[in-house]
Amino acid sequence: YAINMDQLVLEQELGRGNYGTVKKVLHRPTKVEMAMKEIRLELDSTRLNGILMELDILHRAVSSYIVDFYGAFFVESCVYYCMEHMDGGSLASLCCFPNGNVSLPPSLSTSPGSVWTSSPPPLADEHLCRIASSMTHGLEFLKTELGVMHRDVKPTNVLVNCKGEVKLCDFGVSGQLEKSIAKTNVGCQSYMAPERIKGSSPSGSNMEHAFTSYTVSADVWSLGLSIVEIARGRYPYPPETYENVFAQLSAIVDGEAPGLPEDEEIADEEVDVYTGSYSASPGQSSFMRKGKRRWSPEARDWVRRCLIKNADERATYKELLAHPWMQTDGHRGVDMVSWVAKAIEWRDRGGR
Ligand code: ATP
Ligand code: MG
Repeated sequence: YAINMDQLVLEQELGRGNYGTVKKVLHRPTKVEMAMKEIRLELDSTRLNGILMELDILHRAVSSYIVDFYGAFFVESCVYYCMEHMDGGSLASLCCFPNGNVSLPPSLSTSPGSVWTSSPPPLADEHLCRIASSMTHGLEFLKTELGVMHRDVKPTNVLVNCKGEVKLCDFGVSGQLEKSIAKTNVGCQSYMAPERIKGSSPSGSNMEHAFTSYTVSADVWSLGLSIVEIARGRYPYPPETYENVFAQLSAIVDGEAPGLPEDEEIADEEVDVYTGSYSASPGQSSFMRKGKRRWSPEARDWVRRCLIKNADERATYKELLAHPWMQTDGHRGVDMVSWVAKAIEWRDRGGR
């Protein structure tokens, strides 16, 4: 059967993106809590059925690494898309500072708007490994089982739940839908691979090329960049500024690819794991250094293989899954449940 609006009880808003809002809803007939995404469309009724048909592929996207799809429907000029509710929300909300901002807490920050009161709970190598492994399995599933690429891999599209599961959402199965979305606002953090940026129009809007000029290896770049952002807690490229709106895109195309932070680099911005407080001055106390996050050489190498600027040399999913870093997942008995619980507590206390 098909889901429709009359069956849904609207609950709180879960988040807001560039193209619409996501609300928690209760599906009355089944008593299932769902997340409902509203996407405003540029009205073109001839496309509606095409979109619904294309979205139908989502019913086949059944994997423990992909957020479950329950159904979609239209009301007026919006498509509503119902999916599994992930009670931990996105990894971006759990461990990334917004908009590539310098992550100073309000007391040290020069910008008054900062909402940060403490640092998120530290993420260890084995947590990052589990996240990377889940994302890679999800992307590999989309490619081999459904024959689609994701096209929008980024930390806001990686969701977690209290069971410690990590799943991907918001992949681009519908070219028709993509063409109809009313784009009001373009994100200020690009996860596009260099070849996608180069193949796009000078305005930075790549929509004309979105379904032609790049391949699945572009998702591998976005995967690597997301892992770097999750590890660092911030987007690794400079923000676009009023003076230089192309600063970020040029850095992606012409600059050196980012990687996991070096240990020395971490010391400058390290979190004291004992008190959860933040220190901007490194080497202040000796125990502070114990909280230093060190990424394994395997982790660094894995990320490096995703972030190769030449698309042809980038690792494939098969290679990434066979990599020594991925092999360590499973032996390490990683406790994602506790990390997710701590991260949610931090966020809900107002960390973010
Ligand atoms: P963009 O619009 O650039 O894609 P986005 O991914 O943040 O950015 P949305 O996809 O609209 O935008 O999602 C908004 C927020 O809603 C997400 O960041 C996430 O925190 C939350 N969210 C999305 N889907 C779910 C879900 N299935 N369960 C729980 N929270 C969700
Ligand atoms: Mg999203």
